[in-house]
Amino acid sequence: MALDLLIVYAAPMLGVWATYMAVRKRKEIKSVAKLSAAKDAGLLEPASLHPIIDPALCIGCGSCVRACPEGDILGLIGGKASLVEPSHCIGHGACKAVCPVNAITLVFGTETRGIDIPNVDEAFQTNVPGIFIAGELGGMGLVRNAIEQGRQAIDSVRRIKNVGKSDMLDVVIIGCGPAGLAASLACLQHRLRFVTLEQDSLGGTVAHFPRGKLVMTAPFTLPLAGKFNFRELSKEQLIAFFMSIVRKARLKVNVGERVEAVARVGDSFDVRTNRGSYRTHAVLLAIGRRGTPRKLEVPGEEQTKVVYRLIDPEQYRGQHVLVVGGGDAALEAACSIADEPGTTVTLSHRSESFGRAKLKNRQRTEATARSGRLRVIYNSSVKRIGHDDVDIDADGDTSTMRNDAVIVCVGGILPTAFLKSMGIEVETKYGTA
Ligand SMILES: Cc1cc2nc3c(=O)[nH]c(=O)nc-3n(C[C@H](O)[C@H](O)[C@H](O)COP(=O)(O)OP(=O)(O)OC[C@H]3O[C@@H](n4cnc5c(N)ncnc54)[C@H](O)[C@@H]3O)c2cc1C
Ligand code: SF4
Repeated sequence: MALDLLIVYAAPMLGVWATYMAVRKRKEIKSVAKLSAAKDAGLLEPASLHPIIDPALCIGCGSCVRACPEGDILGLIGGKASLVEPSHCIGHGACKAVCPVNAITLVFGTETRGIDIPNVDEAFQTNVPGIFIAGELGGMGLVRNAIEQGRQAIDSVRRIKNVGKSDMLDVVIIGCGPAGLAASLACLQHRLRFVTLEQDSLGGTVAHFPRGKLVMTAPFTLPLAGKFNFRELSKEQLIAFFMSIVRKARLKVNVGERVEAVARVGDSFDVRTNRGSYRTHAVLLAIGRRGTPRKLEVPGEEQTKVVYRLIDPEQYRGQHVLVVGGGDAALEAACSIADEPGTTVTLSHRSESFGRAKLKNRQRTEATARSGRLRVIYNSSVKRIGHDDVDIDADGDTSTMRNDAVIVCVGGILPTAFLKSMGIEVETKYGTA
């Protein structure tokens, strides 16, 4: 009788346990494969804030794995949580919030790759009085945080002596991603005198997410517009939403205006751009961390057909496209456009090999070139970009080829030098909070 009871109760439990262990093992195999792929691709460095897990504390409950809104960024390996896709981590921090034993610390940078974080106080002011920082540049990523900080930074700007009391601008807002947008709306709300300068397009990093990327966000409040309870929406929906707010508020954003220098003049600032200059009491840096794309500095580069990152390969179907550069971004862009029907793709690189790029991308480029879908021109440089052609110099010979679009991937200028040029103190973090 006792044995019968044991069988009746224990058998199903054993079954459940065995299924659970099998599922867990399958997931572990998947996690190991992901981590190994990330290692092979050299993608082990998280871009910004990310978790480190103390294996001595971790009890392997998997709460962090399930909590991450970006999917399988964490996995369980050997019964402990592990960051298996480090370069995809964008610092949501949801893992830390759910860990029952406090095994997770959120840090910037790693032992091998430091991340520069400017010093700001609780009012978002830097060590240079009058210069403020909001959003991802200050270290705290995510759309909602950037929006919240943009609004709060303007509250701090309003407390500066003479703001709102002279003919000079009260604040120049540099960057119109989520932080710059919220700050600009707060300025309209408080009737400050301001300009918003954006070197690229409205929406900041969000505008450069891959097509259809799901944006996970916590609810946020935009000045003048109110509270929004979005949790999950596509990149296109979020950009359309930002645009509608800009239109309704009649906010003017100077798109295509890049700030090149900020200098103190007495107790105000002179902000110099590619179009002119502005005198202001305060400056809000909402420039994110992506930096400014490096340019070719050749005639014709100002045309709209010249872009600095690939968003959607499909848009180039049937076109003659030139990609410039020799790093991973250039190789990935060239190959994925070459995969689109009807494209003629040329990749121009100033050196004789793609030594800086990952093996996987070099192999893909070689294969695409061998198939005839991509022409690679080594030791070359672009001399001129015309309306429907380009001049390329290779080993001293210049040739002209048909062209509908140019994608320049020759690296970016990170914001650190720009910050230091203004006297802002920056701390390099190597895996610390
Ligand atoms: C692949 C990826 C996926 C992500 N997914 C999510 C997600 O799902 N949910 C989420 O909440 N967050 C996500 N993030 C993070 C989020 O995009 C950023 O944290 C957020 O955009 C930061 O906003 P920001 O306004 O501080 O900076 P940014 O959005 O980077 O905007 C900065 C702006 O400043 C401009 N600028 C820079 N320098 C100058 C200059 N000198 N002059 C004029 N303008 C200048 C830039 O052109 C840019 O438009 C993701 C990030 C990445 C990379
Ligand atoms: S939530 Fe904490 S204890 Fe659970 S797996 Fe993640 S790090 Fe380990």
